[in-house]
Amino acid sequence: MELITLKSPREQDAMRRAGRITAQARALAGSMVRPGVTTKEIDDAVRKFIRSKGAQPSFLNYHGFAGSACISVNQVVIHGIPSRRVVLREGDIVSVDVGAYIDGFHGDCAATYPCGEITPEAQRLIDVTQQSFWEGFQFAKAGQRVSDISHAVQVYVEKHGYSVVRSFVGHGVGREMHEAPEVPNFGPAGHGARLQAGMAIAVEPMVCAGDWQVKVLKDGWTTVTTDGSLAAHYENTILITEDGPEITTVTEDGTYL
Ligand code: MG
Repeated sequence: MELITLKSPREQDAMRRAGRITAQARALAGSMVRPGVTTKEIDDAVRKFIRSKGAQPSFLNYHGFAGSACISVNQVVIHGIPSRRVVLREGDIVSVDVGAYIDGFHGDCAATYPCGEITPEAQRLIDVTQQSFWEGFQFAKAGQRVSDISHAVQVYVEKHGYSVVRSFVGHGVGREMHEAPEVPNFGPAGHGARLQAGMAIAVEPMVCAGDWQVKVLKDGWTTVTTDGSLAAHYENTILITEDGPEITTVTEDGTYL
């Protein structure tokens, strides 16, 4: 099994710097979501912003990915490729996933934003997805097992009549964007690695309004719900500290969106 890295205090500071830029990039992208905007325009702004901070977009060219953000609309769950052809429309829900790398470390975060007026059902899906993250977050503490987080996310999501994606999961984060351990959004509590201070993980519920099955389109990235139902995503990078969980992907005014 792959080793879980522990971050020194100095490395944790680098993760906070990366996390702040990542969260600012997420907020910028979210502020641009409105009818008529293309996902390419949002991606261009994200790339310019991250570079303006002296950081690099973690996703750009990652296994050949063509954007600095994954922008996933409606039934696209994750890994939507920014495109001039994807023009946002009133009522869409738009998931933005972004990563920034600076001083040797990555931040990774995501959120789903409403485009103009959306249906109450779509808003509820967004709200439940966000809250499921916080349900899991409570267990992101030294001494807990990884699947204590997984279980809390799943229970909350399913209680609200939605489902969690199985084939993509959260992950450790640090010098690499994807490190051990895997952090699933499902499964019984009490399994997986025991969390300890110095670990950093990205917890990222991917929630479907319908069934949990997803498929990857021919482009090799775009991941959609098989039944065409709406999906939402919410993610933050969390440092496990002696004093409890600390989110690195937060803006200086304290927002996680
Ligand atoms: Mg991630």
